Amino acid sequence: MRRLGVLGWPVAHSRSPAIHNAALAAMGLKDWHYQRLPVPPALFEETTRGLGAAGFHGANVTIPHKTAALAIATEASRTATAIGAANTLTFGPEGEILAENTDAPGLIAALGFPPRGMSAQVLGAGGSARAVVWALLDAGAGPVWVWNRTAERAVALADDLGASAAERPRKADLLVNCTSVGLSVERSATEDHALNQQGLTGDQVGEYSHVADLAYRPGKTPLLAAAAARGVGTTDGIEILIAQGALSLESWTKLVPPLEVMRAAAAEAP
Ligand code: NDP
Repeated sequence: MRRLGVLGWPVAHSRSPAIHNAALAAMGLKDWHYQRLPVPPALFEETTRGLGAAGFHGANVTIPHKTAALAIATEASRTATAIGAANTLTFGPEGEILAENTDAPGLIAALGFPPRGMSAQVLGAGGSARAVVWALLDAGAGPVWVWNRTAERAVALADDLGASAAERPRKADLLVNCTSVGLSVERSATEDHALNQQGLTGDQVGEYSHVADLAYRPGKTPLLAAAAARGVGTTDGIEILIAQGALSLESWTKLVPPLEVMRAAAAEAP
């Protein structure tokens, strides 16, 4: 049995096991299995260092472990090092831990077009915003603006990566939401209430050419609903999750994962 998993705390809600196991089955990899690895922060290093010897070939890493994952790696990719976080670990036979970050290339793949030369407004200044800002700049987008509820965090992130902080969301070609607002807003809340927490109105959303939302939930997030209602192209968070997961799976198996199978599994997962 070749084992894979997702390290997180909490991780019970993760759709990654359903998505990856469906892909592994469709790829004919019957002796591979992907599982949840719920590990609290205090046990992350000790547990993760033991995974290779326990039969794990690799693991995805999610909240709150992405920075710690990079810190314990014996080798890290250019992308993971630049972002300062890893979402994909590969365990070698001698205890090596290789760190990669597929969040960044996953976003670019999920967009479905190269953002070179496009201006972009990123909402949020947490871990995912860091990967998204780096990915957009690395792909040749610019200028890239960062807006966040807590303004100082936007300034710090922008300064660190060579983007620009915005006091309010700017008009741009691309809008990428990296706040958790789409997740946390009550289903009963109005669209305007949700958008206001992201510094926007519905009509402003209509001024972007394309809107991507990392947050996902059953049905559309308020942001993507507002964009779609105004004829703006959209990329949803599940597509981004699948794209980064497919890149992780490809790095472990050296095979190209079936995206359609992964999409179907994501849609069916509770
Ligand atoms: P972090 O906790 O690192 O950052 C959260 C961000 O959301 C901060 O900028 C925070 O602002 C902002 N925020 C939270 N609540 C509110 C609110 N009520 N109003 C305005 N802003 C708010 O999380 P991540 O960056 O890791 O993740 C962000 C989102 O992206 C999550 O929903 C996560 O599930 C999703 N995600 C999706 C992925 C995918 O593959 N689709 C991959 C990674 C993340 P402040 O600084 O002011 O607190």
